[in-house]
Amino acid sequence: MTIDMNEKKLREDMCEIARMMYVKGLICGPAGNISARLEKGLFLLTPSIFFKQRLKPDQLIIVDDKGNKVGPQTHANRDLMPTSETSMHLQTYQNRPDVGAIVHAHPSFCVALSVAGKKIRPQVLTEAMLFLGAIAEAEYQTPTSDELGAEVGRLMLNHDCVLLPYHGVTVAGKDMWEACAKLEVLEQTAQICTLVEQLGGEKPLAQAHVKDMLKLRQNWGLAKPSDSDLLHQ
Ligand SMILES: [Zn+2]
Repeated sequence: MTIDMNEKKLREDMCEIARMMYVKGLICGPAGNISARLEKGLFLLTPSIFFKQRLKPDQLIIVDDKGNKVGPQTHANRDLMPTSETSMHLQTYQNRPDVGAIVHAHPSFCVALSVAGKKIRPQVLTEAMLFLGAIAEAEYQTPTSDELGAEVGRLMLNHDCVLLPYHGVTVAGKDMWEACAKLEVLEQTAQICTLVEQLGGEKPLAQAHVKDMLKLRQNWGLAKPSDSDLLHQ
């Protein structure tokens, strides 16, 4: 199997995004993983238990839709396995043909809110309403389990961002850069929610303004059936 130019670029971008996620504190140590859809039912994934900030393009791993490592075998990835959260990625791709990339991270403010039993409310930030829409909250499942994969895959049918309580977040995008941008907005939204709580609580934005943002989201082709959740939370 040869590496074409598109795949070469995806490999370089994935390493750049992994470093960026680390520098911004969205992952630490060996945590987090990234994937991208290739052609012919194949997927490019980060390796399991690996310091992502030091990733090199030839250490990334290609799997088929069952999660089997299919190559190319390089000297650098020969002894590496695909991310232990492969199931979460594959079940999302299966349910969302429009998704081209997925990032999974452990951002502190998102996790802290989930542990405190608080919601991440996109209504606190116009950009979050526009680009993220409603944020799904998964039932707690053991990390790396097929049950977690199934739960994330199910919620991704109607969302791009899924909060995994006591664990992290998984974000889907049409490409890696879009997924990463949403991840950053999501963590900023969680940070704002935390600050608002410390400042005495939210003065909610009028429903009419929320509706206007959802209309804008629709005009930009970003609408999802779950958008209406923002009007009822
Ligand atoms: Zn994780």
